[in-house]
Amino acid sequence: MPTSTWSGPTLGTEPTRLSLKAQSFTESVIREMTRLNLELNGPERAVNFAQGFPDFNTDDRILDAAAKALRDGYNQYATTWGAPQLRKAVARKQSAAWGRDVDPDTEVTVSCGATEAMIAAMLAAVDPGEEVIIFEPFYENYGPDCVISGAVPRYVTLRAPDWSFETDELRRAFNVKTRAIVINTPHNPTGKVYSQAELELIAQLCIEHDVIAITDEIYEHLVYRGRHISLATLHGMQERTITISGASKTYSVTGWRVGWLTAPPALTAGIRKVHDFLTVGAAHPLQIAISSALELPSSFYVELLGDYQERRDAIVTGLRECGFEVEAPDGAYYVMAGFASLGYGDDVAFARHLIEKAAVATVPASSFYHDPSLGRGHIRFSFPKRIETIERGLDALRRLPID
Ligand code: GLN
Repeated sequence: MPTSTWSGPTLGTEPTRLSLKAQSFTESVIREMTRLNLELNGPERAVNFAQGFPDFNTDDRILDAAAKALRDGYNQYATTWGAPQLRKAVARKQSAAWGRDVDPDTEVTVSCGATEAMIAAMLAAVDPGEEVIIFEPFYENYGPDCVISGAVPRYVTLRAPDWSFETDELRRAFNVKTRAIVINTPHNPTGKVYSQAELELIAQLCIEHDVIAITDEIYEHLVYRGRHISLATLHGMQERTITISGASKTYSVTGWRVGWLTAPPALTAGIRKVHDFLTVGAAHPLQIAISSALELPSSFYVELLGDYQERRDAIVTGLRECGFEVEAPDGAYYVMAGFASLGYGDDVAFARHLIEKAAVATVPASSFYHDPSLGRGHIRFSFPKRIETIERGLDALRRLPID
């Protein structure tokens, strides 16, 4: 009889017992809020400012390219690390933005959205027990990503109203166990766009402590003030940065799940293997469609930004009229709203109140913190919505009985 060497917590024997990792996860609050609102109010009434996805369709040129790719027979597996034409298109785009030649054969991997890119990056580069620095509030997936890869998250706080961080706090977070730092710019949920000076400090600390950076740049084209800077372009960072982006936000196709990573060849080789065993690959015809989306003229991006600017201004103005404390976000498509003057103490209760009384779903900010108490005073509104949807939501908030 083999003898067990297990010395951890009692695991139980019942067949439906979940793994310790799975037990540590809670339902995504973003999707929970979306679901509750739909259940309670139905799709006609419910206004979804919770989950960040567009309620408008993508550009016809992109839809036509997808339909054509299906007809043209791109219906079997693509190369596991990405269809050559999409990798080439991503490399062309990154080369132009970064002013150096990015190699589609050794530096680019296509993934099932930026979400898979992040977990593939962590699994490929971080060993269990190593630390990963994360700025909070943070996009809710980064916590579970650390759990899945066995990494130990170490949090550095971004502080309202400008969501800056203290240099010393960041310096203290770096230590001998640190393997990686995650930078999300433009930032979900605050809309912060990291400045050149902030990124230079991060780069300096990464180099000093021999740490890699994993950047989530999925909102790279949504910058209303300042400019988007890729950490990979800073001196000494190309060889230690995994840059993640994707099609979801730029081309309004969050359901297509097409993302990509750009990383030095050695890291790319590991990422590709992890990605292969996780998912085999992203949908082939949609990769082909996105490769043509990447060739759209600059007018596409000007129009995209103009439309988002209008949405941002509408929601910020409306929320202020309703008594929320909001700063206009510099990037991405979220706004954190303080509600102290509305007389509600708890973000979760307030978000539920908005669903019940106004059919408006938001996300309680506590779900973006490892210590929920830090987020009690804010809720997040996402605004990739038609102006009429934004106005409908704001009207419901204006009529809201506060009880
Ligand atoms: N990134 C989007 C958000 O933060 C969508 C989240 C999700 O459902 N995966 O709302």
